[in-house]
Amino acid sequence: MSVDSLMILVLISPTELWYGTVGEYLLGVVPSEMIAGSWHMEALRAQAVAARSFAMWRIEHPHEVDGIGKVHIYADTRDQVFNEDKIHERSSQAVADTKDVYILDADGSPFMAQYVSRCGRTDCPLCAGANGFDGKTWDGRMCQYGAWILAEQGKTWREILRHYYGDVKFSDEGAENETE
Ligand SMILES: [Zn+2]
Repeated sequence: MSVDSLMILVLISPTELWYGTVGEYLLGVVPSEMIAGSWHMEALRAQAVAARSFAMWRIEHPHEVDGIGKVHIYADTRDQVFNEDKIHERSSQAVADTKDVYILDADGSPFMAQYVSRCGRTDCPLCAGANGFDGKTWDGRMCQYGAWILAEQGKTWREILRHYYGDVKFSDEGAENETE
């Protein structure tokens, strides 16, 4: 199954819906959540996989919106920001480089991969326990600026995601093992 060809229904505004594939959707999310022109490619790849994981989780946990019915995901910070005007070749490359890959929960279902600009976690190389967004500590979330720092330090996108989400598994790892 190609995850990136699954369909997702996005609520753009109270009266506007967008419908397309997960792959098309991610092209408008990654550059809305990170600055595609300047951020390290490995951070963009980590963002692509986190955003794909969250989208997959939302497809299994949709919203019920008054007057509209079931929608998968909101196009703003209540879920994750989606803006096709931001599409950039570097973030599109990050989506392509990680095609179909998402993070698995312990039971093998999509992981609710939440993230925040500044996490405030003590184990974050950027925040070091201070300066969390809204003055809070966001346990369990990926730190977007911290991801940038880890990428600059040479970490891969898988290492960045495991730094923040723990010892998670990725959807492509089982497949790799099966072909060995
Ligand atoms: Zn942080």
